[in-house]
Amino acid sequence: MKKFDVIIVGAGPAGLRCAEILGKSALKILLLEKDEVFGDKVCAGGLTRKGFTILDLPDDVIEHKIQNTAVFSKNRKSHTNAPMPFIFTLKRKDLGAWQAGLLENTNVEVRKNAKVTSIEAGKVIVNETEKIEYQYLVGADGYASIVRKYLQIPMEKSLIGIQYMVPDPIENPQLEIHLHSKYFKSWYAWSFPHEKSIALGCVCDPRLMSSKKLKVNFHRWLDEKSIDISNAKYQSAPIAYDYRGIQFGDVYLAGEAAGLASGLTGEGIYQCLVSGEEVARRILGAQDESEEFRAVLKYNSIQEKIMKFSYRAGLFRGMIHALIVILLNNKRMKAKIRNSFS
Ligand SMILES: Cc1cc2nc3c(=O)[nH]c(=O)nc-3n(C[C@H](O)[C@H](O)[C@H](O)COP(=O)(O)OP(=O)(O)OC[C@H]3O[C@@H](n4cnc5c(N)ncnc54)[C@H](O)[C@@H]3O)c2cc1C
Repeated sequence: MKKFDVIIVGAGPAGLRCAEILGKSALKILLLEKDEVFGDKVCAGGLTRKGFTILDLPDDVIEHKIQNTAVFSKNRKSHTNAPMPFIFTLKRKDLGAWQAGLLENTNVEVRKNAKVTSIEAGKVIVNETEKIEYQYLVGADGYASIVRKYLQIPMEKSLIGIQYMVPDPIENPQLEIHLHSKYFKSWYAWSFPHEKSIALGCVCDPRLMSSKKLKVNFHRWLDEKSIDISNAKYQSAPIAYDYRGIQFGDVYLAGEAAGLASGLTGEGIYQCLVSGEEVARRILGAQDESEEFRAVLKYNSIQEKIMKFSYRAGLFRGMIHALIVILLNNKRMKAKIRNSFS
């Protein structure tokens, strides 16, 4: 039976970042990915400056560097032209391929089409046949994490994200956020420009608003905006925000497997990168939480509080959204909100 110091399950942004850091150590690492392609995942493909800075991505991975943002409430609009880009759009497959490229010539063995089908103490079973031993196990296997299930940690808090990739060659890329309480309650609809398409989508917590209702409302909103989706591909996936810790003895969780996305915006890539890094640090002997990881926990916690506050506001939610847009027209507030993504 083969044995590795660390087995990482899942090659999304969290698993790949964890492998990248551990690949610089003397440990023998195995990264297992069930799919053939890295990063082929339902996503609007927006990376905030925080995440961009961690990876220092080259230009050929980026589709748009966005400075123009418009935030809409029912009857108001706020427009920002930031002095420097603060959101970057990319194709998830390109991000996956680029991150995987960083593992070449390291001590990380990468296996594609290798699905972990069960876990026992000290070993994983791949594709139902091969047993491989580990000293440390990392679950970076996303929302439906088999590692999290092995740890018997439930996933109770999640969002559902739905979107269309609408074909459209973008000339003046602008990111749009639509706060429309009637359709999206505490959440929002987004428009993220890509090279030849726009990602148009929205999220909600299905415990507070059913995914069926979200879909109906999203279509009403698209109709209202006269957006033609006849040639667009419909996509949907859950997003986990139920964080319960990252270390459980010799087993670790990173990214969405750890429930580290935002319960308000559905953003997850930045949090995945930081938590992948944090798990690697812990395996390499760090005892304390890094400042960056503490910042992620605080960031997610503030966003969850905003979501809950706005949800409880009921009929006043529309007024809160209007107030947010008014505040966004204030220079200082604009900069403050922009900085929270930087
Ligand atoms: C509609 C939508 C839009 C979104 N838009 C954005 C956005 O614009 N910006 C942003 O920051 N976030 C966005 N997100 C969230 C973001 O996509 C996720 O938070 C992020 O991809 C999670 O990364 P991860 O590495 O934890 O897991 P994943 O990206 O899910 O990767 C997990 C990997 O593990 C593999 N895997 C799973 N099970 C196994 C197994 N048993 N064995 C082996 N491999 C396995 C999977 O194939 C996958 O490659 C969006 C999500 C949705 C649904």
